[in-house]
Amino acid sequence: MERRSFLKMSAALGCAATVTGCNSSSDDANVTPPTTPVGDEQITWSACLVNCGSNCPVKVFSRDGVITRVETDHDVEDGENIYQVRACARGRSLRQRTYAVDRLKSPMKRVGERGEGKFVPITWEEAAETIGTKLSSVIAEHGNKAIFRSYGSGAYYGFASNACFNRLFNLNGGCLSYHGNYSWAQQQEAAAHTFGTSSTKGSATVTLANSDYFLGFAYNPSEMRQSGSGEGYDFLKALQKANGLKVTMIDPRYTDSMLGKESTWLPIRPGTDAALAEAIAYQMISSGWVDANSLEFISKHTVGYDAASIEAQKAIFAASSDEKELEYAAVMNSDENYRDYILGLGIYADAPKKTPEWAEKITGVPAAQIEQIALDLQSAKAPYIVAGAGVNRQANGEQTVRALYMLSVLTGKLGTLGSSNGELPNMSRMYRGSIPTGTNPVKEKISFFTWSEAIHNGETMTARSHGVQNTDGLDTPLGTNIKVIVSASDSTLLNQHAEINNTAEILKDESGVELIVSCDCWMTPSAKFADIILPDTSWLESNDLVDDSYASGAMSYLTAMKSAIEPMWDCKSMYEASAMIAKYMGSGEEAFTEGKTEAEWLEELYQQTKASSTNVGVEPAFPETYAEAQEIGLFRKHMDDNHVALSSFINDGEALATPSGKIEIYSAELAWRSANWDQENSNLNPTGVKGDTITAIPQYTVTWDGYEDEETSVDYPIQLAGYHTKGRTHSSYHNVPWLREAVEDAVWVNPIDATKYGVASGDNVEMYNDRGSIAVKVRITPRVAPGVFALGQGAWFSPGTTVGSTGHIIDEGGAINSLTRYQPSPVAKGNPQHTIRVAIKKI
Ligand code: SF4
Repeated sequence: MERRSFLKMSAALGCAATVTGCNSSSDDANVTPPTTPVGDEQITWSACLVNCGSNCPVKVFSRDGVITRVETDHDVEDGENIYQVRACARGRSLRQRTYAVDRLKSPMKRVGERGEGKFVPITWEEAAETIGTKLSSVIAEHGNKAIFRSYGSGAYYGFASNACFNRLFNLNGGCLSYHGNYSWAQQQEAAAHTFGTSSTKGSATVTLANSDYFLGFAYNPSEMRQSGSGEGYDFLKALQKANGLKVTMIDPRYTDSMLGKESTWLPIRPGTDAALAEAIAYQMISSGWVDANSLEFISKHTVGYDAASIEAQKAIFAASSDEKELEYAAVMNSDENYRDYILGLGIYADAPKKTPEWAEKITGVPAAQIEQIALDLQSAKAPYIVAGAGVNRQANGEQTVRALYMLSVLTGKLGTLGSSNGELPNMSRMYRGSIPTGTNPVKEKISFFTWSEAIHNGETMTARSHGVQNTDGLDTPLGTNIKVIVSASDSTLLNQHAEINNTAEILKDESGVELIVSCDCWMTPSAKFADIILPDTSWLESNDLVDDSYASGAMSYLTAMKSAIEPMWDCKSMYEASAMIAKYMGSGEEAFTEGKTEAEWLEELYQQTKASSTNVGVEPAFPETYAEAQEIGLFRKHMDDNHVALSSFINDGEALATPSGKIEIYSAELAWRSANWDQENSNLNPTGVKGDTITAIPQYTVTWDGYEDEETSVDYPIQLAGYHTKGRTHSSYHNVPWLREAVEDAVWVNPIDATKYGVASGDNVEMYNDRGSIAVKVRITPRVAPGVFALGQGAWFSPGTTVGSTGHIIDEGGAINSLTRYQPSPVAKGNPQHTIRVAIKKI
C-alpha cells in the first residue's frame, strides 16, 4: 500500500474532523494499519522516552512507511558488563501507541468550554501566530513571570524536547520556572538538610552485593524500573551475588521486588514509616548499643544527636561573621535533640517514649519485628538502607524521609562498602549534548506543585507562605499571577496534579489563565483543557540522540534514533513548533534556529557527545557522523560506578554541603525555617494544616488524612495507597489496550477488608471522599495490608454523568488524583499525593 493511501485511511479511522474531540477508550484505540505492506523490511532504532528512568532503545520494523512490529534490543549477548537493554511490555507496545486513534493529527483550537474536548483544526501558521502574539501581549502587560512552562515528563527527547520551549522563552525574556518535582521533592529537601545531597546519592545498587543486611522502605525497583538493564536489573543481580544477604521490605503492598525471593515483608500503614524508624532507634539507643558501638562515629560526624553537639555547633555559628550563620545561632535550641526526643527525656518527658509497642499501634508492624530490625542493623557489618520515593509523597513526607535516614547514621557503619544511607542509589550516565536553552532572566521560582494556586494567588505568594525562591525577602511577593501555561508532554496540567475536580474548575475559569497550550501526541485528559493543541511527532517518527535517563543502572547507553516513518498527518516536533512560534515573538525564528536544520543540530550535538571524555570506551566506538551512528543505533558503556554513600565525607574528610559540613540530625536551616516559615500552629499561621510542622530534628508527625487523623477516619475509614503500576508509566501508555488487558486497573483489597466491607473480586465500587469519586473494580488479594486499599496511579480522568456520594461526578476512568488533596508540604511545598482517605460503596 502507498504511504499516502495508508495515511488517508487511518486519518479517516481517527477522530472525525476532531470537532467533538477524541474518545480515548481502549476499544477505539485499537487501531492498526489496515493491510499488510509488501515492500522490503526496514529496521531502525528508536527509544521509549517516558519518565520511568530508563529510556530503553527499541528496534522498529517497517515496510512501505508502515510500522509492522517493534522488538527489544537483543544485539549483544548478555555479559558481566555489557548486556541487552530489554524493553518492558510498555516499550514493546509502541506500535499500538503510535497508531492509537486518539493521536493528535493537526493543530487545533478550542471551540467548547475548557475540558469539553471540542476543537476544530487550524493551520500551524494560525496556531503559531495565535500563541506567539498572545505570549508577547501577556509579557508586555504582566511581565515574563506570567508565563509558565509546566512540568512535563512524558517525552524525554534529547534534542526536540520540551527544552525547546525553554529556549524559546529564554530568548524572549524568560518565564516563571519551578523548583522540585512530582517524584521526590520532599526527599530532596530531607537529603539536603541531612546530608547536603539531592536524595539520589545512595550507594550504587551493584554495591549491595557486598552488604549483609538490606532494609527497604517502599523500595520496589522490579515494578518501578522494569528495563532489562535498569535499576531493577541491578537489584536482582546484586541479590544473586550477595552471600547470605538478609532482606527486609517495609511496604503496604507485597510487591514484585519481593515475589519469589527470601524477603521478609512487613506490611505497614501508609505514612507511618517515621514512627517505625523511631522505634528502631529507641531499641538501638535504649539498649546501650549506640553508646557502646556507634557513639564515637556519631560524635565525630554528626550534629544533633545530643544537646552537647548542638551547643558546640551553635557556638561555631555564633562566632561566625556570616549573616546566615548568625541567624542559625540565634534560633538553635539544644533542648531539641534527637536522643532526648527518642527516649522521652528533657523537654520531651511528657511525650511518649518511642518504644516498639508505641510504634506497633501506629504502624501495624509487630513490636517483636521492630526489635528484630534493630538487632539486624546492629549485627550487620554493612547494612544497606534505602527509602523509595513513595514515602516522600506523603503529608509531611520530609519528616518521614529524615526519620528513615537516621537509621543509617545510628549504625555508625556509613562509608563501608555494602552500606548505604537511605537515599536512592547513585547512577552514572554517559554525556549527551543537548540543545542550549540559554539562561532564564526570570530568577524567581515557585514550587512545581503550586502552579495551580499561582493562577489566582501568584501576586501574593511569598517565600514565607509558599516557599517561593529567589525573591528579595521572606515577604516579597512573586507579584504576578500565571496568565499563560505552555504544557508539553505533560499530564500534570490535570491528570497527575492533585485534586482533579478542583484543578479543572481553576482551569475552566478563563479570567484566570488566559491561554493554555498543549503540545502532545494524544488527546489526553490534560490536553482537553487546552485552548490551542499542537500535535507532536511520536518517537517512532523522530530523529534524535537520547541518553539512558536517570535510573538505568550500572550500564549506560545512548540511542541514535532514526525515524521509522515520516511524521504522520500534520504533526511537527517540539523543535519545529517552538521555531514557528519564535517567528511571532521578539526574538524571531532565526535566533531560535541559528539558521540550522534539524540534521545540522543533531550532527553538532552528536559531535559534542562523541568528544566527551565521559564517553571514552563506549561500545561500539562512535563513528564519524550522526548519520552513521543512526545505522548502528545503540552505544553502551559500563560505568564502573561503585559509589559508596558519604564515603568522601567519612573516609576522605571532605565536608558535606550542609551548614555545619556534617550530617545534620539537627538541621540549622530547618530550625531557621521553623522560626520563620508558615506552618501548622505557628504564630504566623495559627490555622495551619494538621501535621504541616517544621522541626529541627526529624519527628513522626500526625497529619491530616493520616492513620491517626481522627477528624477524617470516621467518614473515610480506608487508607488508600497509590502506586506505580506496570501497565503505565505515570499516565503514559494508558491508551494502549494491550496494557489495559495485561495489567488490571483494580483496587487491591485484603481478604479481611473484603469481609468487613462486603465486597468480592470483580465488584464495581465507588471510592470517594470530599474531593471526588471514582469508579473502580475490586481485586481481593493478601498482597496488601489490612485496612489499606491500593490502586495504581495514572489512569485517565474520565467523568461520566452520575453524581457520586459527595456531590462530585463519578470519574469512571478511575484517576487516583480525583481523590488526592492539593496541600503543599511544609518544607518542599511538594505533593503529598499518597496521603488519601476514602470510603467505598458498591455500585
Ligand atoms: S517504560 Fe521504561 S522500562 Fe519500559 S520500555 Fe519504556 S523506558 Fe524501558
